[in-house]
Formats: sequence, structure tokens, C-alpha cells
Amino acid sequence: MSWSEVEEYLKKDNRIIIPIGSTEQHGKFAPLGTDTFAAIALAEDTSTRTGVLIAPPLWFGWSPHHLVRPGTISIRAEVLIEVLYDIIRSLAKHGFKKFVVVNGHRIVNIPWMQIAAERAQRELKVRVVIFDPAYMSKEIADKLGFGPVGHAEEIEISHMLYKYPQLVNLSKAKDYVPKEKPLYHVDPRDPRDTLCYVPSTEEDMKALIEASGDSIVGRPTMSSAEKGKKYHEYLVSRLAEVLNMLKEG
Ligand SMILES: [Zn+2]
Repeated sequence: MSWSEVEEYLKKDNRIIIPIGSTEQHGKFAPLGTDTFAAIALAEDTSTRTGVLIAPPLWFGWSPHHLVRPGTISIRAEVLIEVLYDIIRSLAKHGFKKFVVVNGHRIVNIPWMQIAAERAQRELKVRVVIFDPAYMSKEIADKLGFGPVGHAEEIEISHMLYKYPQLVNLSKAKDYVPKEKPLYHVDPRDPRDTLCYVPSTEEDMKALIEASGDSIVGRPTMSSAEKGKKYHEYLVSRLAEVLNMLKEG
């Protein structure tokens, strides 16, 4: 778009979607950009349906635990806070008032997005909501029989098989389900008591690599484009619902 097209848009709407993902290893079989592709796919298909504008995606997130694999690019937590705040501040200056941040890097980016969102709401008098697929698909994930959120597991790989099948080589995928840690169940669907999420240490990741032969957690071989389609369409409806709520104030 040109700046004048953005100006035209602002005469009729003040909502915008900001897709944020990560560039981090997703096993031997899926691209480093998986999380960003997920955020872009949800943003684009919801934009087509609702007409709400999308900001350019942020391809980097907080991924210190995945630096054990080449190609991963991690920005520091404080950098993520500042970048997101500056994106919102720039757009707010032009008249955008309602922001939906779509987080493709499920769970992990959230604390920093929350800090940026709170500061933006307080200082810029805007509304910011955070849309995370892991929190927004609890109902459909159960219906589709998905296992827990892991990493490069059947949920995000089904999504990729539906939207970007050319980027996935499932023949290279191997499942790995580690033994559960006591009092640590960070999938938002899990009703049990849990400690809060903290990314794995480098030593944890090395142990994972040793045990699994790759660096993933979950059952990617259970992925299917058909499940990915249902998951995607459900999330697009949810995101459209959120945008409607914002429109109505
Ligand atoms: Zn991912």
C-alpha cells in the first residue's frame, strides 16, 4: 500500500492486525519461519474476511532456547517489548486506535507483548489485545484430538500442511514425547496445577537433541492438512470475532 491508501483506510477504520512470530528451528522437517507463517496466515485470511488492515509482520521473537540450532535468530525480551511498542506508537500517531497482536510463537512471546501492550494503552490511549493460537484454540484442539502444545508438534505442523505444504517435509519427521515434568504442564488446555513457563536451558536442549535425534517435542507424524484446515478456519473466525468486538468498542 502507499501512504495515501493507508490515509484512506483511516477515514473508515482504526483497527489493525500486527502479526508477530519467530525465526527458530522447527525440526529437520519444517521451516525456521513456521511461527511467523502461522501469524501471517491467520492475519491474511481474517483480513480478507473483515477488511481490517495488516501491518508488516515481525519475523523475530524471543527464542534463546532454540539457538542451539543454526538459522535461529532470537531477539532479547527487552528488544521485543521496545519494537512492539514502537510499531504501535508509530501507527497510533497516524490515527490507529485498536491493535490486535497475533502471536505465532505460541505462549513464549506473551509476557513481553503484555508489557508492551500495557505501556501502549497507558501512554498512547489505544486499545491493544493479544491473540495467541494456543489460548484461542482450546475448544477446537480438543475436538480435533490434538495432543498438547509442544514444539513442531501436530498442531502447528497440521496448520503448515494446510497453508504452506511446500515448506514441510514430513518424511523427515520423528515423534518425540518426553516424560512429563512434575508440576509443569504449560499447555493452556491442561487443567492441572503448574509452575509457569520458562524456556529450556541450553543443557535441556542438548539433552532433548540427544534423546530425540532432532529438537522437537510432540507427534508431528500425526499432522494432517485436513485437521490444519479446521484449526485454521476456527482461529480465523475467532480472530474475526475479536475484531468485531473491537469495532463495537
Ligand atoms: Zn512454532
